[in-house]
Amino acid sequence: MLKDKVAVITGASRGIGAATACRLAELGANIAVIYAGNAAAAETVCRRCEDEFHVTARSYACDVSDFQTVKETVARIKTDFGAVHILVNNAGITRDGLAAMMKEEDFDRVLDVNLKGAFNMIRHCLPLFIRGREGCIVNISSVSGMMGNAGQCNYSASKAGLIGLTKSIAKEYAAKGIRCNAVAPGFIHTDMTGSHEENPLLSMIPLGKMGEPEDVADAVAYLVGAKYVTGEVLRVDGGIAM
Ligand code: NAD
Repeated sequence: MLKDKVAVITGASRGIGAATACRLAELGANIAVIYAGNAAAAETVCRRCEDEFHVTARSYACDVSDFQTVKETVARIKTDFGAVHILVNNAGITRDGLAAMMKEEDFDRVLDVNLKGAFNMIRHCLPLFIRGREGCIVNISSVSGMMGNAGQCNYSASKAGLIGLTKSIAKEYAAKGIRCNAVAPGFIHTDMTGSHEENPLLSMIPLGKMGEPEDVADAVAYLVGAKYVTGEVLRVDGGIAM
């Protein structure tokens, strides 16, 4: 289905990003893994894509919050692969705390990575999409951005911002054949939620359990293939935000 397409996935060295890279590789896409620091983990994801799914995969160290670094990284990916067709903005961090005690740098850093990072990637991939008259963007938001979450005002704001970004890009570029959607995961088993296992919110999930990274990857794959869907926010949350 995605043979000869090139997919860029940020934060793909582990968790939801790694599962998404493997899922898109399984569908035939060549994969550019963007990672923050763990080169060995990023390489492992690339090897899995190549060995199991017989696509080309390469890894790129890049802090998505840095406009210039993202510009250079997208240029390198264009040189290496010749094009970019799919962008999954998955890189994200948390720096939780109550608003009354939150440090300015913790608010700024979460917004810089989660929201500005997605803008930076979109900003530098758009010229390639426009030239090719084809492009698909999937932003990984969160149910925290839809419902809010005590102790996560920075994270929730960044994820709500991603939904506004998604819909604006969808409207701006639909006429150019470019689609932009979001996935809003609930509680997914990853390193990010490792310490949330005992969270009382778990008892509020209608499906009664946490999700797996592959559940989110499946939703991304659906949106990549859904040619008549744009500006949508697809919850993958066991029903918690309905
Ligand atoms: P994770 O912490 O396991 O993975 C996050 C990835 O982002 C890592 O590979 C990390 O290296 C990368 N990253 C962090 N800062 C970066 C930067 N500045 N530049 C480039 N890469 C950077 O988290 P995860 O649970 O797999 O989450 C993936 C995405 O899904 C995040 O955006 C997260 O907010 C979102 N999400 C996760 C859950 C959940 O329950 N796990 C729920 C809702 C939304």
